[in-house]
Amino acid sequence: MTTATLPQPSQPSTANRRERRKLDERCSGFLDCALQRLQVNDEIQALLRSPFREIKFELPIRMGDGQIRLFHGFRVQHDKSRGPFKGGLRYHPDVDMEHFRALASVMTWKCALVDIPFGGAKGGINCDPSSLSRQDREVLTKRFTERLGHMIGPDRDIPAPDMGTGQREMAWILEGYSEENGYTPDVVTGKPIQLGGSYGRQEATGRGVSLVTSWAAEETGIDLKKATVAIQGFGKVGRHAAKCLSEKGATIVAVSNVKGGVYSADGLDIPELFAATSDSEKLTDLSAVATSADKLSNNELLELKVDILIPAAVSDVINEDNADHVQADMIVEAANLPITFDGAAILTDRRIRVVPDILANAGGVTVSYLEWVQNRQRYRWSEKKVNRKLNDTLRRAWQAMLRRADEEEVTFRMAALLIAIERVCEATELRGF
Ligand code: NAD
Repeated sequence: MTTATLPQPSQPSTANRRERRKLDERCSGFLDCALQRLQVNDEIQALLRSPFREIKFELPIRMGDGQIRLFHGFRVQHDKSRGPFKGGLRYHPDVDMEHFRALASVMTWKCALVDIPFGGAKGGINCDPSSLSRQDREVLTKRFTERLGHMIGPDRDIPAPDMGTGQREMAWILEGYSEENGYTPDVVTGKPIQLGGSYGRQEATGRGVSLVTSWAAEETGIDLKKATVAIQGFGKVGRHAAKCLSEKGATIVAVSNVKGGVYSADGLDIPELFAATSDSEKLTDLSAVATSADKLSNNELLELKVDILIPAAVSDVINEDNADHVQADMIVEAANLPITFDGAAILTDRRIRVVPDILANAGGVTVSYLEWVQNRQRYRWSEKKVNRKLNDTLRRAWQAMLRRADEEEVTFRMAALLIAIERVCEATELRGF
């Protein structure tokens, strides 16, 4: 792609510490506004802001090459008033406690908004999974499970995949936990089908993104069959969202991964890109697959003139530095926390509609819940049944959010948070202290 046809990308901050601080500030920024609007009393506010429990522990591993390396494992359990803790495991070199605190809180509001009986948690390991051998990842994951064993369990805390983890890691956790506790498939979700995983779980988050995108497009007056879409991130969420949306008739003009992206004004061949990548292999050079498409950077993708922009990779990518340059009519937050508090304020001023993460990517935890239910019943449902329940659950949450946004004349994000916080507050009061 020539620079003449592209908007000039702004330079987002690359300082990790600053990014993490912003992540935490932004999250409490959204929460502050919602708590203030609901006039939640100070005592309950303090409770909702602080995690129930957090743990960081050493993970020394003897690697396949004989070296000893020290990693750290994390788990933050935010709130359990509505049910056992639930949340993904992220393997990434930059994660830390602040990161997981913000993401665990998001899980609490997400589960409450879609009305599934779980609280919020998040955790992971500060490692670069792409630099580890399969064997080292297995040893690391099983050590992590051993050290976390007392905190997780089907009625305590149920991990699931997130960035850098997938079915394989869930299988190792199942094995590690079952070793001590007897066969316990419901200790994790997002497992392989052969070990009690649910049909439809792999694609659930992306499918959910596409469902919510189609309802939001209709509401915003965008004809999905004529719409152009750009998606940042072509991993477990992004690639399934791209596939489902292209099946609904949308034209996906740009996709990217950590290495960069590809752009075609006429639309990319999504089945071809989908077939050339996989949920566990993230480092495919997309431009080597879509050879007739133009290359573009991740920053350029965010500023494309498209109808719908879907950030489906990392946090904080739309912020006060580039929100003014976004040209999409609507943004659907497939990633967790992709827009900062300041960035969101700019988008609201510019009347760019944002479908918040706690609804847009809730398809994953919804089907995780369905997987957990099937495991407890020792019974498997058809993919059709799982997808119908996914659709119904998200549809109910979408309609509730839309109604609340209309009634109170607030953004989708505010409406979603108001509903979620009210539900968590009710459960907290009912359980007592
Ligand atoms: P993944 O690891 O499968 O894929 C991540 C994708 O983002 C890859 O294509 C990777 O190359 C790309 N990426 C990584 N760093 C990037 C960067 N700096 N710039 C641009 N692209 C980058 O992860 P995933 O499971 O698809 O998760 C993506 C997002 O969706 C995360 O924010 C995650 O928390 C959120 N999410 C995931 C699920 C789920 O079920 N997996 C559910 C809800 C929310």
